[in-house]
Amino acid sequence: MTPSEPTLAELGERHLLARIRERVPAGEGVRLGIGDDAAVVEVQHLAVITTDSLVEGVHFRRVQAPARLVGRKALSVNLSDVAATGGVARYAVVSLCLPSDLPVDWVDSLFDGLLERAAESGVSLVGGNVSRTPETIVVDVTVLGDTQRPITRSGARPGDIVVVTGSLGAAAVGLELLDQGARLGEDGELVATGIWTESSADALTTCLRAQLDPRPPLALARAVADQDLAVAAIDLSDGLSSDLAVMCRQSGVGARLEASSLPVSPAVASLERARRGDPLARALDGGEDYQLLLAVDRGRFAELAELSGVWGVPVTAIGEFVEGAPVVTLKYASGERELVPHGHDHFPHRGDHAGA
Ligand SMILES: [Mg+2]
Repeated sequence: MTPSEPTLAELGERHLLARIRERVPAGEGVRLGIGDDAAVVEVQHLAVITTDSLVEGVHFRRVQAPARLVGRKALSVNLSDVAATGGVARYAVVSLCLPSDLPVDWVDSLFDGLLERAAESGVSLVGGNVSRTPETIVVDVTVLGDTQRPITRSGARPGDIVVVTGSLGAAAVGLELLDQGARLGEDGELVATGIWTESSADALTTCLRAQLDPRPPLALARAVADQDLAVAAIDLSDGLSSDLAVMCRQSGVGARLEASSLPVSPAVASLERARRGDPLARALDGGEDYQLLLAVDRGRFAELAELSGVWGVPVTAIGEFVEGAPVVTLKYASGERELVPHGHDHFPHRGDHAGA
């Protein structure tokens, strides 16, 4: 750190808050924003509330993740949850825990990303909190949205189609690429290829962006909710095998997937080919894709496919829900096997993956 980079300790809390407040634009529906004891906002129908945090050392590393992208992701992971519930995100509050030796620049860049993502998604930042922490950065975001018709995880019925949006596996591969020295700059451009060569640049960029700057399909999700096209939904945060298991359990159904139908990210396929890895395993177990997993009535898939064209987000039928125990079966050309959840779990129970 050079003397020209002031730290939070040098700036002080009052000045930090003033600096943040100055940058936050007035938002629609905001009766009282930053500066009062609490925010007061308008909601139209039912309020949807969700919260999620990014913790340094757990969700990101300072040397691997540009601050601007940490800001974008901190909001995006919440937008994904609101979208999966059939809501439209409206307002956000941000609670920051920051070490006092953190350069002020880092916080400025974090807010570059947060405010930019908020503007893109029609969300107003209405308040928050700042507190000091010994060394670890925590960015905690709560988003408030509204919905007329919430979509739950528990509505899947036997015969419904299992649908995923977008492609799978890139975010998990992106996380590994960071550990292999590949890097994005503040603007999401590739600045280091790590152990990989320049010939993989496009695939590296795709996977790193999926990890550091996920883009949940918000517009498509909104159209799906408006047209009542999904009977159940969950966002893919922990990995398809885990998130589908949750939907099956909560809906009281099983599911059968066709391995050949899974929309493996082409970037993942190309990188895994290069290192003789298993692209299918990435698509099944890799977390943080922040796409949607939907249960869709068979008779309405064509409408969904049409919407997918309108919003430029692929939707893929990957199998069907079936009667019986909440077990997921994966069918290959050569046979089938039970799909055991191997996605992310913050507090894994030893018995959960016995023998795995
Ligand atoms: Mg979720």
